[in-house]
Amino acid sequence: MFESLSERLESAFKQIKGEGRITELNVAATVKDIRRALVDADVNYKIAKEFTDKIREKAMGEKVLTAVSPGQLMVKIVKDELVELMGGTESELNAKGNPAVILIAGLQGSGKTTFSGKLANYLKGKKYSPMLVAADIYRPAAIDQLKVLGGQIGVDVYSEPENKNAVEIAKNAVAQARSLNKNVVIIDTAGRLAIDEAMMTEVTNVKNAVNPQEILFVVDSMTGQDAVNTARAFNERLDFTGVVLTKLDGDTRGGAALSIKYTVNKPIKFVSSGEKLDTLDVFYPERMAQRILG
Ligand code: GDP
Repeated sequence: MFESLSERLESAFKQIKGEGRITELNVAATVKDIRRALVDADVNYKIAKEFTDKIREKAMGEKVLTAVSPGQLMVKIVKDELVELMGGTESELNAKGNPAVILIAGLQGSGKTTFSGKLANYLKGKKYSPMLVAADIYRPAAIDQLKVLGGQIGVDVYSEPENKNAVEIAKNAVAQARSLNKNVVIIDTAGRLAIDEAMMTEVTNVKNAVNPQEILFVVDSMTGQDAVNTARAFNERLDFTGVVLTKLDGDTRGGAALSIKYTVNKPIKFVSSGEKLDTLDVFYPERMAQRILG
């Protein structure tokens, strides 16, 4: 995960690690290399610049500190800022309700259906009794896919294959969940290949009809800066409550993980890193920063 970013940052620190003291010159050189590493990892230039300006300011402000070496100091400052950029502390999922409703939104292929199954599995492990809802009325295959996942984890899947009204399906599903004493309803909505007005209207209507505790926006981390643009578009319409980054097991450069919180000011709640159902993790900014810095 993020090997190329880790390597580039490592090499950005190389020179200053050999220096005896912090100077304006060696800080400037390191900061420049860090900025390039971030931009190469698909972080938007403006975010990378703001990030490195802060690093420079902090490093110069602490030059009197002699207890740590310049290299250690720079790594520490970058780590703290990475944690901050990714949201500071972890953000807990709100699954309290009668039932709690969690709406899953995102583009087609982003990993929504897979994530819905993983989330149900995760919540089941935490002693919740979840129900999955197939609200994709355009792709019958999506219903089957969710049923297969539900079967694997022993979670009921609600669907109405003949009904072409996603709002009705969602409402009926919540009523059904209540009558079956399910305490979390996970609604997998339809996605499109690109932002599309009809899709946005539909998912907004579903949101307004079922009043979800959580609206999770699922995004493929491999799509780089596009991931950030998609997040912005979904957030403008849906005002989602959290982000799920998928495919972190792939050859992603990390830009999405680093930029999304900054761009939409919503926390990353989960990261998904595989096709298997147990490859879901709560997102911890601190751990991620540690991983990036090796
Ligand atoms: P949806 O159209 O948004 O519902 O996307 P799907 O859940 O059907 O996922 C699209 C493809 O991505 C499928 O082939 C999944 O197996 C795959 N996929 C989903 N999440 C991950 C992940 O975290 N890592 C990898 N490697 N593949 C994933």
